[in-house]
Amino acid sequence: MSAAPVVELSNVSRSYPGPPEVRAVHEVNLRIDRGDYLSIVGPSGSGKSTLLHLLGLLDRPSSGTYRLDGIDVAELSHARRSTLRGAQIGFVFQAFHLLPSRTVLDNVMLSMLYQGISRARRRATAEIALQQVDLAERSSFLPTQLSGGERQRVAIARALAGRPSLLLADEPTGNLDHHNAIGVMDLFDELHAAGLTLAVITHDDEVSARAQRRVRIADGELVTL
Ligand code: ADP
Ligand code: MG
Repeated sequence: MSAAPVVELSNVSRSYPGPPEVRAVHEVNLRIDRGDYLSIVGPSGSGKSTLLHLLGLLDRPSSGTYRLDGIDVAELSHARRSTLRGAQIGFVFQAFHLLPSRTVLDNVMLSMLYQGISRARRRATAEIALQQVDLAERSSFLPTQLSGGERQRVAIARALAGRPSLLLADEPTGNLDHHNAIGVMDLFDELHAAGLTLAVITHDDEVSARAQRRVRIADGELVTL
């Protein structure tokens, strides 16, 4: 484990060429330390998803520097970025993206398929992740047999199974009713207390208020709250 911050963005911008050119993220500076729980809040179109894609190595800055665990990611080949993403980042999206015909356990195990881990080890790791989200009893269920909140907790277990340095969530409660949203927020509190580093992107003030530190994004620029 390196001593560097998990995330260090320096003057990072991302423009979509267009025309017209859109400056989706503009000159962003952001540091996320190990164990931080950060929320990034902003209205629709403010650049939240673009920022999350940059943080998650799904996209590259047009300019500026991104260090993830001290590694300057601009220097990396496509293959090394993919490997780094798989090793360091866990993703949770608004739509849960579970495979409907696979059990809960399989959905979590499949996330580790290409990491050269034995099936027995993948199974054990998936079972631990499902315990962390309190769904061990639902291992053999299909996603269609679960509530929305439970499905999102499976998606969180899948993200945790890779032991990420950073959990990135984009509107994680966007498809949930209030009761289930609170369940997911409570789970994030627990995971944070257990040492996980989280960045949660949301347009919902109630969700963002749970974080230890909040930043707002407006027209691609960050403001600390
Ligand atoms: P948010 O997630 O906050 O709704 P986005 O990051 O999705 O915001 O979008 C920020 C801005 O960038 C918006 O003006 C959006 O229209 C624009 N944008 C997003 N993705 C693309 C793209 N692939 N090509 C062009 N413009 C884009
Ligand atoms: Mg978005």
